Amino acid sequence: MKNLQGNYSLVSIIGDPFGFTRDEITSVLGEYDSKTLYSFLYKNTSHKKVHTIWIKDMLKDTDTEKYLYELTDNKYIETVCIKRRTGMTACVSTQVGCPVQCIFCESGRNGLTRNLTASEIVQQIVFLKNKINRIVFMGIGEPLYNYDALIKAIHILRDRDGLDFPTDGITVSTVGPVMQLKKLREEHIKIQLVLSLHAATQKTRDYIIPGMAGNDIEETVKAALSYSQRHNRKVSIAYLVLPGINNNYSDIKQLVEWFKHENVMINLLEYNETNKGILKKINKNEIIKFKNKLEDLGLEVNIRVSHGRNIKAACGQLAGKYNISGANCT
Ligand code: SF4
Repeated sequence: MKNLQGNYSLVSIIGDPFGFTRDEITSVLGEYDSKTLYSFLYKNTSHKKVHTIWIKDMLKDTDTEKYLYELTDNKYIETVCIKRRTGMTACVSTQVGCPVQCIFCESGRNGLTRNLTASEIVQQIVFLKNKINRIVFMGIGEPLYNYDALIKAIHILRDRDGLDFPTDGITVSTVGPVMQLKKLREEHIKIQLVLSLHAATQKTRDYIIPGMAGNDIEETVKAALSYSQRHNRKVSIAYLVLPGINNNYSDIKQLVEWFKHENVMINLLEYNETNKGILKKINKNEIIKFKNKLEDLGLEVNIRVSHGRNIKAACGQLAGKYNISGANCT
């Protein structure tokens, strides 16, 4: 095993070491040194000199911590840690800003600045103080619009000489660009999938998720169900219930037509306020009524509890701004 200095020499040959898979490092350093380097990077915390993202600020709520990371080009992203009964979940960002610009979300307010590298995605996990047992790609950005970096980061996180993160504990949450969903179906990685559907008609979906306007809603649903069948995985359908917009009886009928008898869980979400202020939050009784109707017609439904509203760390609130105490931030 090399000493610390020796490990830094290996790093200097590789450059930004968190962005490389084991196979890539092995092709440069050979098997022995690549194994040494991976364990140096992922199994101890003394690699302060080699990172390219820095924690600049942190906000804490009862069960949620929000980290603001600064990148080498002075851009900011956010990562959220949520404490659950089953352990700690990290909600990770994949882009600076977001091109999709959902109407309920602060992250896409100014469009896309740039994609994160695989290294920047991986480092969000490496430098957290908590031990993480679930990773959800549900932070700032649309993960499947940064496809190659996302898949590479997942391979790096799973490497058994590195973090050895279980594939089962990794979830990708996406608005479902059809081409990329079909590509994901063919990968040999059995990750969990969440489709952020939020509508049962094309027109409503184009209003709520303008960045998906070129994607046929039926094709999107088919691609998600096909992923579920190929990988034998229950797919979650995230549905932000917006009163008067997507909770009509016709919406219920369409959801039942698509998802009855499928391996699917519908997760209903309430709107978390952002600065846009154009949407109304559904009241408790109405969302429970909506849930009951879907269940009566044979669907499996859950109302998802949002964490971190007080620190603007809940779904739709991540903005990636400095100072985060004043930010509205997924
Ligand atoms: S909800 Fe997701 S896809 Fe939509 S704008 Fe926000 S980050 Fe982008």
